[in-house]
Amino acid sequence: MTAQHPVALWSEDLLGVEGRVLAVVRAPAPVLSAPSADVDPTAAEVVQLAADLVETMRVSPGCVGLAAPQVGVAGRVFCVDVSAHPKVRTHHGTFVLCNAEIVSATRNEKAREGCMSVPDLTGDVRRASRLVVRGLLPGTGEEVEVTTDAFEARALQHEIDHCAGRLFLDRVAGADAVHARSTYL
Ligand SMILES: [Zn+2]
Repeated sequence: MTAQHPVALWSEDLLGVEGRVLAVVRAPAPVLSAPSADVDPTAAEVVQLAADLVETMRVSPGCVGLAAPQVGVAGRVFCVDVSAHPKVRTHHGTFVLCNAEIVSATRNEKAREGCMSVPDLTGDVRRASRLVVRGLLPGTGEEVEVTTDAFEARALQHEIDHCAGRLFLDRVAGADAVHARSTYL
């Protein structure tokens, strides 16, 4: 059975692991364009990776999510935290999911997206604005479902794409949907 609980999915205190800030890989690094492998969410190195992703996200201004391939690790792990973003309606705070899959995705919406691995560009990407995602928590390996919408739904799809070797640039409608970033977040 899948747990359907509100997500307080990440706590360094609970896991007793201190995150380290890792260097973020930029396109066209091969690790960003190859599908990553499933991970064992209970493995010590995966728990450490989860903590490292969260720490790296936290020290990066404007960063609302980071996937393992972006720090050079080809494993299906990512963190998300959209809580500080002004566009947010629904959010679940900071959380990490392993081996995440989309359960349902509806109501497509187009919006501008950026990525730390593609620092000079943004793009208009169509994504579901109602989303249910299933994944495993690092540490316990517990299976959880996250039901969300709008900006958090977009962030989740962006990170799940990273784990499948896809960048937002692979999703834009065409060259005129790609824009030079005029300011750095
Ligand atoms: Zn990204």
